Amino acid sequence: MPYDMMLTCEKRTLYKIGGAYEKRWKEVSVADAVGTATGDLRCVHCGGEVRLHHRKVTTTTGPQDHAEHRRRQDSEGCKAGHYFQGEHRRSATPIE
Ligand SMILES: [Zn+2]
Repeated sequence: MPYDMMLTCEKRTLYKIGGAYEKRWKEVSVADAVGTATGDLRCVHCGGEVRLHHRKVTTTTGPQDHAEHRRRQDSEGCKAGHYFQGEHRRSATPIE
């Protein structure tokens, strides 16, 4: 089955700025996003929700670690999506 093959995603990250904590988006590799709650991850390009896929340590075949759009609709409208239809747009349901 075909799939999106994004090697990075954005992770909501807590920063301390001027004594106050603030959450901002940071681009990280999929390996660095391991363990992050679903609602704190999004596509770098369209802001849509993504799902992470990890290659099992015991296998050397199969796809490497990557992120996929959770919604087919996002994949169709995102330049990083496997189903991209040619016109990039922001996700209809972005995570902000
Ligand atoms: Zn996207």
